[in-house]
Amino acid sequence: MDPSPKALFGLSLPELTNLMKGLNQPPYRAAQLHEALYRQRVTSLDEITTLPLALREQLKIDGYTVGLPEIVQAAKSVDGTERYLIRMADGETVETVWMPDGDGGERGDGSQAAEEEEKEDALASEQPAAEHKPVPFPYRRSTICVSSQVGCAVNCQFCLTAKLGIRRNLTPGEIAGQVAAVLNRHHVELGSSRGNPTPARINLVFMGMGEPFLNYANFIAAVRLLTQMPIPESRMTVSTSGILPGILDFAKESVRPKLAVSLNASNDQVRESIMPITRKWNIAALLEALSTIPLRNREWITFEYVLLGGVNDSLQHADELIALVSGMRCKINLIVWNSGPNMPFHEPPQSGVSAFQKRIMAAGIPAYIRRPRGRDIYAACGQLKRTVELPEPAPLVEIAPAATLPG
Ligand code: SAH
Ligand code: SF4
Repeated sequence: MDPSPKALFGLSLPELTNLMKGLNQPPYRAAQLHEALYRQRVTSLDEITTLPLALREQLKIDGYTVGLPEIVQAAKSVDGTERYLIRMADGETVETVWMPDGDGGERGDGSQAAEEEEKEDALASEQPAAEHKPVPFPYRRSTICVSSQVGCAVNCQFCLTAKLGIRRNLTPGEIAGQVAAVLNRHHVELGSSRGNPTPARINLVFMGMGEPFLNYANFIAAVRLLTQMPIPESRMTVSTSGILPGILDFAKESVRPKLAVSLNASNDQVRESIMPITRKWNIAALLEALSTIPLRNREWITFEYVLLGGVNDSLQHADELIALVSGMRCKINLIVWNSGPNMPFHEPPQSGVSAFQKRIMAAGIPAYIRRPRGRDIYAACGQLKRTVELPEPAPLVEIAPAATLPG
């Protein structure tokens, strides 16, 4: 059942057109509504002044609302990362993370777009000083980590979200709505019909709570809505634990983000012990499914590899990993395990992490170490869990809405 059947945010243009038709309104009213919802990101019907008052009142009488999910709690990390608890219409909550980057420094957000921008920045900094454009203060770009489900059914042993189990799928409006709510909080103006000359560069990573490919149709519908805001799909990266039917459908998609795959092990035995999903689809089947994806210009597949001390972090594992992926257009994102309470793992030593990375690089495969973001507020990879339910409450502090991204 749709948890928010009368929410307008989440409806596509054809759906809005049908709605308007039912109210004996011309199609251009649907276009106006669409513009207000996805470009202006209005939060109430009263703000949609392009629609006649009588129509707005009619929508209200019929029970319609904009229905954006609401940020109910926020915590800010020392590194600038912010974690939000976002509440849906039925009271379920998910977590969403904002990772600003202002200094052109090392990236930790998992997005491919960020790495490309880093190269662009390096080129830009070689220009003569006079041609250097001033950088809008204080941030030029930011990445939002988006949730796709309330909880997760995949049960990876190292992940805190897994402990929740699966509560329900998010709707397209609830997935895209997290982004709208966060952008509104930061007063972000994207490239828009209003001719904004310095649009913020927003990257999205679908790496929050849940497995996007187990909520495939809603996830893809959300991507399409987000491209209307407009955030191009080239600035989006989705991460999957390796749900084969999802990967095969994704390969055929005309509008699709970049893909990251949580490999996390170099052989089936280790992977099975930390990711039980491997029993359903083993590594060979996973890699074969990935080979069906028609990679675009300058696109590669990212393999995420969570380093768990003593489990998957030896040089022998690195060699196995090299053998698995060599010949593929890919790169490896190494993620040092982020700890959680009562979990039977430990962080590998820093020297081991560097040695692992060097070994992979020496084989000619790009390998990056993802810098943990927001660890102190439990916002880092695999730490997202509805904090209200943590046995020992995390230090969640309410912070004032910020104005960080100039339009
Ligand atoms: N469900 C999807 C996307 C969300 S998880 C997936 O699994 O791919 C995003 C990333 O965080 C995955 O690569 C996952 O392997 C990693 N991750 C999960 N728990 C972690 C932890 N405790 N420390 C570091 N990374 C973790
Ligand atoms: Fe789910 Fe991803 Fe966590 Fe695995 S790592 S339990 S797929 S959220």
